[in-house]
Amino acid sequence: MSFSKFNFLAPISEALTNNDYETPTKIQDKVIPLVFKKEDVLARAQTGSGKTASFVLPILNHWLNNMPLGKSKIKTLVLTPTRELTLQVADTFNKLSSSFEKELKVVSVIGGQSIGDQLLDIQKGCDVVVATPGRLLDILDKKQINLSTIDFFVVDEADKMLDLGFEEELEKILENLPEKRQNLLFSATYPPKMQKIAKKITNNPITIEI
Ligand code: AMP
Repeated sequence: MSFSKFNFLAPISEALTNNDYETPTKIQDKVIPLVFKKEDVLARAQTGSGKTASFVLPILNHWLNNMPLGKSKIKTLVLTPTRELTLQVADTFNKLSSSFEKELKVVSVIGGQSIGDQLLDIQKGCDVVVATPGRLLDILDKKQINLSTIDFFVVDEADKMLDLGFEEELEKILENLPEKRQNLLFSATYPPKMQKIAKKITNNPITIEI
């Protein structure tokens, strides 16, 4: 089956063709319709399953349908455990939005790089923030970012985030998010500690196993 069943808007279909995405992967088949239905999702998915596009594609389609007028506000926050994954996710947002008429502004917020440049990019206005928890919390503590406007909160490789000891940061970040938002959580494993944090993040989620 092709991607046509999802009825993505034209700029997304164009990006799929340009990036040689012909057939949805299993996780994409299951997650994309749930995001469209505004469900919270808990997905068990490994790297290489196509999990990134499973949230990037429906979020981009939503963005095209609801493009904010005037100055951009942050509409999507993605948390990842590592700098590498942050950059990969940001790259997927950029690649799959490359045919958009109005450029999607994606900012990567990671340690080991100039915080000044990241603050400047945030101040200029952006649509999507992809971040590791530590640096994002630094910026929140400085009151230099407003996350109260987000529609989507994605936590990618959540089990790895807990393994790296980011639980406290994650909870503090949650305090800065609006009550009304759609939550998508991806994790390769679901140990009890993970289930506890998943309960705090999501609201009546649908569980996906592939
Ligand atoms: P991920 O599991 O999100 O890290 O994706 C693994 C790789 O698969 C990435 O290089 C993606 O660009 C690629 N990919 C994701 N979905 C598809 C698809 N439906 N068709 C072809 N390649 C894909």
